[in-house]
Amino acid sequence: MTYNFKEVNESYTLAEAIREAQRCLHCKVPACKKGCPVSNDIPEWIAELAKGNFGNAMGIINGRSNLPSVCGRVCGHERQCEGSCVLGKQGHHINIGKLERFVADFDSDAGLTHEAIPEKTRGRIAVIGSGPSGLTIAGDLSRQGFAVEIFEMESEPGGVLMYGIPEYRLPKDVVRREIRKIENLGVVFHLNTTIGENYPIDSLFKQGFDAVFIGTGTGVAKRLDIPGLSHPGVRQAIRFLRRVSLYESGFMSRDEVIVGNDDRVYVVGCGNTAIDAARTALRMGSKEVTVVYHRDITHMKALRSEYEDAVKEGVKFLWNTTITNVEALDEYRLKQLTLNTSGVESVVPVDHVVMAVGSAPASRIVSSTGGIEVDDKGYVLTRDNPYGMTSRKGVFAGGDVTNRPATVVHAMRDAKQVAEGIARYVDAIKLMESINNATISKKENE
Ligand code: SF4
Repeated sequence: MTYNFKEVNESYTLAEAIREAQRCLHCKVPACKKGCPVSNDIPEWIAELAKGNFGNAMGIINGRSNLPSVCGRVCGHERQCEGSCVLGKQGHHINIGKLERFVADFDSDAGLTHEAIPEKTRGRIAVIGSGPSGLTIAGDLSRQGFAVEIFEMESEPGGVLMYGIPEYRLPKDVVRREIRKIENLGVVFHLNTTIGENYPIDSLFKQGFDAVFIGTGTGVAKRLDIPGLSHPGVRQAIRFLRRVSLYESGFMSRDEVIVGNDDRVYVVGCGNTAIDAARTALRMGSKEVTVVYHRDITHMKALRSEYEDAVKEGVKFLWNTTITNVEALDEYRLKQLTLNTSGVESVVPVDHVVMAVGSAPASRIVSSTGGIEVDDKGYVLTRDNPYGMTSRKGVFAGGDVTNRPATVVHAMRDAKQVAEGIARYVDAIKLMESINNATISKKENE
């Protein structure tokens, strides 16, 4: 069967959404809310939805999340809100993710909610990177009266949402729509703008920003020390997914995606990125896609639902298996792999290997900015008070670049706390400035 990039999960109709919302028990102590990393007021907005009050439902969701259409689609609901729902014990938890997606999509399509743009009087914040962390910081601080400008090296904002999560799970138009909502709050985007050696953080402070947030994620793929892995036929999953995304948006030719029709592809790793890469390879026409994982199924990091969908689509899985050698056919193509499954060696033909064994932060910003401490793996170190501030005063960091969050929603939770830290810090320095200015003018008048 041939798969395409059309979104795989269908949305509710209006009647289905209301019926599903009416099943909710509106629990006094809602386990679903406890299970949600951003403490979304789930029973409250579900109750509004059950009554058909879509605008109210959206307003409640907006209070906790800047990216509900995204979260409704790609959050790990089965391990979070839905996994905690009391009705799950009877086998039918409320489909919270699908309802959140419905409310956010319905609200946007009908143009129901128009948030007022708050006056920007509390200070200026520069945000580097426009992935889930950067967008959350920008949305939260903008709503609180800060002037926020985002600096993004790509030609479109969204980071991993735009270039890492495939279209069939998260359509680009949905990401663009969420970003427009944040733009409508008065957030300014500077695209194709790389902060680093030629445009360092210091110059942002010179421009008058009161604080800088680094949310650049992890752009450097981790590598394994296996003979043959440096061959061009071995691709990093984050690069492969980015190329497919650019190809799908018309910015890259089919040839540049590399993985082609009728290829045999092996994907190494078993997190969500590995599953995304495997299902994407199938959609690019590969005839055989196999995920190789060095542990058993109980240790895989991918969501069970993602794994099951991949199996349904024809992706094969080899557990307790490692690649021990990669042999090239020529300069561009691979010939065969040596696999070791629980101690038994086998040799299999292969065209491409896609590596999805994790990634680490790039050092571009840290190396061009004095005073920012990192750990031995390059992750930026931050403190708890004010939350998220690095060892450099006024410079904050959050998301994957700090090694804390693991998923989109965890990055958002972390960013919400960092936004509070930034607000406290900027309010404090503004207060000090006004006290100092008052003292100086008092002295001048004496
Ligand atoms: Fe509704 Fe389930 Fe949350 Fe209870 S735990 S309020 S039933 S979604």
